[in-house]
Amino acid sequence: SSRDFWHARAAELLARGIDGRMWIEGRREDAADGQCFDCISPLDGRVLTRVARGQAADIHRAVASARAAFVDRRWAGKSPAARKKVLQDFAAAMLAAREELALLETLDMGKPIQHSLSADVPGAARCIQWYGEAVDKVYDEIAPTADSALALVTREPAGVVGAIVPWNYPMLMAAWKLGPALAAGNSVVLKPSEKSPLTALRMAELALEAGLPPGVLNVVPGYGHEAGEALALHLDVDVIGFTGSTRTGRRMLEYAGRSNLKRIYNELGGKSANIVFADFDDLEGAAATAAGSMFYNQGESCNAPSRLLLQEDIADAFLEKLLAQVPQYAPGDPLDPQTTLGALVDATQTQTVLGYIASGLAEGAQCLVGGTRVLEHTGGQFVAPTVFDKVHKRMKIAQEEIFGPVLAVLRFRTEEEAIAIANDSTYGLHAAVWTRNLDRAVRVSRALQAGTVHVNQYDEDDITVPFGGVKQSGNGRDKSLHAFDKYTELKTTWMRI
Ligand code: NAD
Repeated sequence: SSRDFWHARAAELLARGIDGRMWIEGRREDAADGQCFDCISPLDGRVLTRVARGQAADIHRAVASARAAFVDRRWAGKSPAARKKVLQDFAAAMLAAREELALLETLDMGKPIQHSLSADVPGAARCIQWYGEAVDKVYDEIAPTADSALALVTREPAGVVGAIVPWNYPMLMAAWKLGPALAAGNSVVLKPSEKSPLTALRMAELALEAGLPPGVLNVVPGYGHEAGEALALHLDVDVIGFTGSTRTGRRMLEYAGRSNLKRIYNELGGKSANIVFADFDDLEGAAATAAGSMFYNQGESCNAPSRLLLQEDIADAFLEKLLAQVPQYAPGDPLDPQTTLGALVDATQTQTVLGYIASGLAEGAQCLVGGTRVLEHTGGQFVAPTVFDKVHKRMKIAQEEIFGPVLAVLRFRTEEEAIAIANDSTYGLHAAVWTRNLDRAVRVSRALQAGTVHVNQYDEDDITVPFGGVKQSGNGRDKSLHAFDKYTELKTTWMRI
């Protein structure tokens, strides 16, 4: 497909109109007070549609709908095989709507259409399908107690789950919550980001068409301090599955304390260290991965390897190879299938990223490439891929999550120094070590404080592995069977025999 093809499809979609109303009890609904907000595309600044601005009253309706669906067991009471079929049909419906979902995602948050098509839609669909498949393969337990009694340890659905997700991977983050929460038999109220609400609303329609009973999944778009806060404070919500910034994650814990002590699972920010030792023999390959993983999704990835730690002896050679990669990530029209780096999510994000670039320069780091906003004539939000050398570990650009295409390079001499720099962070999401020395690979990966450590690669990913962080990157894990822990309660039933 070509750029023209996608522009024509976008024009058709906009001419038809995009429904921005909420999704409650299996129907589209306006917000109770009729308020909306503009959904603006970062590609060119145009208003894609008006989206319902959910408030506490709307959250209340959505939670009541979810609770009613949970209490009458219209979903949890179905046989595992029946729930599995619905989730598989839901995943298949997403794949069948692949072009439409990909287009919505790209128009809404700016990522290249090629990535929406090849990663986001299939990744989200696979997640739903994988948890669907798991439904009739997970067994409960019998505890090894005395002969006179039987103690059953069963997993029960937690009840009503509030899912609050960010804008950087709207479909994928929604799917990481919906997959395990729905598979476990819960009802869900999903609050997508105000910056990218469109695909979540469309996913909910597809789920209903696939047979998910009304009320089991409700979607209330709106702002964090309105709809988000109301959901996290709601007394009838049992669990919050949150993905977003560490700042908001902190508030989630406060909301729980101020309301019903609901369980909070936080998947938060990161500042992942990517460490290359001088003994690594494929600098070319390591540089290609360092650039590719950093600039993927415009650098708006929680696990972006945004701190590159280079051992002095190879630092200059490595940077030469890295810089040779950068032109491949020239920002371009996200609707062009050739584009590899799209638009940042909105004007605010552009300002944030440019602010970090200015701070890097002010603190004395050396900008090797990029550092500016580009393609301004398009009205879109584009920032050139940027690499800073001579970054000191205490500089702001080494400590804070930038969430844009900005790489900070730090140099080290010894293994101990590399570990110390890597762990000198409030975050602990991902980390990587590149070395051919097996002892060192084991030593360093053990010492790194991170939820995921990569050895000699960075881009492997799969739904079968847990994803999440330590320290202020969060608690709990998305993906894999471990994610069921978040959305289930263990119940012990003692029986005298
Ligand atoms: P954010 O915290 O601003 O918003 C996330 C969600 O929370 C949105 O839906 C937002 O509306 C809502 N929200 C904001 N303020 C709120 C409040 N006061 N009360 C209730 N809800 C509120 O984060 P963001 O800018 O949308 O997303 C980027 C962040 O997400 C980055 O820090 C990134 O690292 C993180 N992230 C983490 C993971 C992970 O798995 N660890 C994955 C993706 C993104």
